[in-house]
Amino acid sequence: MPSKPKQQFIDDDLENRKADNLFRSLQTLIPSGDGLTVTKKGRELINFCSNDYLGLSKHPEVIRKSRNYTEKYGAGSTASRLISGTFDIHEELETKLAEILKKEAALIFNSGFQANSTLIDTLTDRHSLVLADRLSHNSLLKGGLASRADLQRFNHNDLTHLEKLLVRAKGENYNRILIITETVFSMDGDRSDVKEIAALANAHNALLFVDDAHAVGVWGEKGLGLGYDVEGIDILLGTCGKAFGSFGAYVACSTKMKEYLINYCPGFIYTTALPPAVIGAIDSALDLIPYMEKQRSRYHKTIEKVRDRLQGYGFDTGPSSTQIIPVIIGDEVETLELAEWLEEQGILATAIRPPTVPENSSRIRLTISLAHTDAQIDYLLNKMKEWSNAGS
Ligand SMILES: *Cc1c(COP(=O)(O)O)cnc(C)c1O
Repeated sequence: MPSKPKQQFIDDDLENRKADNLFRSLQTLIPSGDGLTVTKKGRELINFCSNDYLGLSKHPEVIRKSRNYTEKYGAGSTASRLISGTFDIHEELETKLAEILKKEAALIFNSGFQANSTLIDTLTDRHSLVLADRLSHNSLLKGGLASRADLQRFNHNDLTHLEKLLVRAKGENYNRILIITETVFSMDGDRSDVKEIAALANAHNALLFVDDAHAVGVWGEKGLGLGYDVEGIDILLGTCGKAFGSFGAYVACSTKMKEYLINYCPGFIYTTALPPAVIGAIDSALDLIPYMEKQRSRYHKTIEKVRDRLQGYGFDTGPSSTQIIPVIIGDEVETLELAEWLEEQGILATAIRPPTVPENSSRIRLTISLAHTDAQIDYLLNKMKEWSNAGS
């Protein structure tokens, strides 16, 4: 019998988090009906940490289609996809996704996390090798660890290191090699060179899994992501909880791969299909995204302006080249102070601390949305300047 009270570890672990200034808790917000303002404890705040990059969560067409599908099909899809949860709307959406993404097929998953944490296990076994970028999302690393494959991480965006590991694998008897990377990395907002990685995968007969979560809607031709139209990606994953403004995820792949996943992927098989409301929202967002080119180009300019100005005020924005702009402070306490001060000024920008990011790289992670008004952007910049002036 264990000697300690059975829940003692909870007290101990929570105390550790508090002692390290890393304790986290939930904040309750009430979103406004439009735009990116939220109310927290009665105070109105401009949200600079939302993933609603295109503001589609509030788009009237998206809401209308979501409502229509609910009225027509009900609140739930009542079963898993393989039992009786595949409606015509699920199938139509998959066909549309495949067509737009120029892939043979697409398969909807209930979330990016669910897809990533079960796909890798599905595609590999204990005789396989998984090579994942060191900064891959937690869901991908979870998936890699859950598989019994040999999981090796290559240094972030270091293709020389990746190639070295691929060459080294030649002498081993792996049945398969799977390379995992993202296009836009979620904490630093930098990008990978997908085309180069695809070339390496091709040269070494390795499968390639690309997570396009933060790029779809925002980057690439017609906003279809940075993995769009790149030859040699076996699994192209996009999420619908970010720029799509709703929820869920998809994999774009070959028809054969889709069949394989339907037969073998537990994260697809053993879960209730996404509800009609969500399918309607995704479907509507997909109709809008390719045609937002004008707004997107203005959006890209805003992103650049924010980053340039912040750097001009002396802030370290790391390697960011996207709408995710980390303001790296380093020290946890100082980062929390900045987040709290911004909140007093009416700006919501959450502090990100270890273990989400490496030690001594605590940061305010700003995300810029197309739905932010020029006035809101300027307000943020003025406040950041004020903080920087006060500190120097
Ligand atoms: C957000 C995110 C996910 C998880 O997607 P959800 O649909 O929110 O579960 C997966 N990968 C990356 C890179 C992400 O940023």
